[in-house]
Amino acid sequence: MSRPLIISDCDGVLLEFANPFIAYLADQHGLTLKLESFALAGNIRDAAGDAVAPDRFPALLDGFFNTHMPSQQPVAGAVASLAELSKWCDIVVLTNIADHHAVARTAELARLGMPYRVIGNHGPKGAPIKALLGEFQPSAAVFIDDLPPHHGSARKLVPHVHRLHMVAEHELRGLIPDAPDAHARIDDWADALPHIETVLKG
Ligand SMILES: [Mg+2]
Repeated sequence: MSRPLIISDCDGVLLEFANPFIAYLADQHGLTLKLESFALAGNIRDAAGDAVAPDRFPALLDGFFNTHMPSQQPVAGAVASLAELSKWCDIVVLTNIADHHAVARTAELARLGMPYRVIGNHGPKGAPIKALLGEFQPSAAVFIDDLPPHHGSARKLVPHVHRLHMVAEHELRGLIPDAPDAHARIDDWADALPHIETVLKG
């Protein structure tokens, strides 16, 4: 008997990302990131106030995940909500992160109370969601992500999967654009859990 499948993003949905990354940039590199738009790579400035070239962003992000991943704390309600859902659903974390960081992230999520399978993805998420549906053959599926393009990709390739747009970090709620390809926008796990239960229990 197949179970429902929850496919969830990590950064900004299960774990806080913005504030830990901002703290890392300040502490380790003397850089500031002001959240004035969601173009993170274009908003980083050095001590003189000059913009840091966007091509430095990948290395800064890699450095953050290398040494400061443990500074990422769970989003309020995420641990308890997934624990509740895991009683009757399969759960996979689909996160855009390099393969070796995905291994660390698996351990880190487990340490924080989220002992689920982690897939390190690159690029749009529609194709890996489709692959997971083929593997699990779930009775129904829900996809959760904070970035609108992933909902577009999912809508295109797996239109029957329920798509929940969640921007769990308060600092990003006014910056991340709407996701017209998602079925719903719910930013708090307190409200998302009953919504997911309703969708899956139909
Ligand atoms: Mg995210």
